[in-house]
Amino acid sequence: MDDPVPAEAQAIHEVLVAKKNAEVAALTAVRDGITSLIEKTGLAVGGVFMIDGSKQSSHSNAYVAGMLGSKRVVIYDTLLKDLENDVPMISAVVGHEIGHSVEHHTWALLGVSMANLFVLFWSFGFIQNSPEVVLSFGFSETSTFLTLNCFMVVYFTTVMPLFSGLMNSFTRKLEFRADAYSNKLGLDIRPALIGISKTNKGDLNPDWLHSLWHHNHPPLVERIDAVNALRAKAD
Ligand SMILES: [Zn+2]
Repeated sequence: MDDPVPAEAQAIHEVLVAKKNAEVAALTAVRDGITSLIEKTGLAVGGVFMIDGSKQSSHSNAYVAGMLGSKRVVIYDTLLKDLENDVPMISAVVGHEIGHSVEHHTWALLGVSMANLFVLFWSFGFIQNSPEVVLSFGFSETSTFLTLNCFMVVYFTTVMPLFSGLMNSFTRKLEFRADAYSNKLGLDIRPALIGISKTNKGDLNPDWLHSLWHHNHPPLVERIDAVNALRAKAD
């Protein structure tokens, strides 16, 4: 007759199975919560996926991407971990991402980037046949290579910083709008923002000028203040 399985091994096995079952139940609850949220918004989504983002970065993230019927909601495993599979918090983040999608923020950002490229090529057209810019850098003769390089130096040290500031202001506005969309769905994104910031370790309340120059997302304090204002207005 075989030896019976030792009681200690049986106990460990039961604990491991219970842990796995709990994980599966938590992920199922998250999936169901997000599916019902998507139904509520009426967004045509082909599926909800989780990706193994922790292999690339510890930052938590989620996004809605795709077009022409291939739209999908993608959630990083880091987001699930940071927010401890909490359905209301994860739904609030997904509500924010749906807001970006419904309001076509990706297209708006693409339009602004294209405008920047247009200005880049348009301004290059003014100097491509003028030797003055290259000569003013101290070169004795000009060439297409030098003209392009000198132009890039001027453009990327004068126009691009201004454009970055404008672009950051624009993307921040879109972030506030997406937060407002999540709030409009009856979700509270504030606890999720606080939960994510613990891992992302961004400056919670930086100097506004430094932040405008370097951050394309609003600081945590500003986002929470904006949601507080929206909720106070609704009361
Ligand atoms: Zn966003």
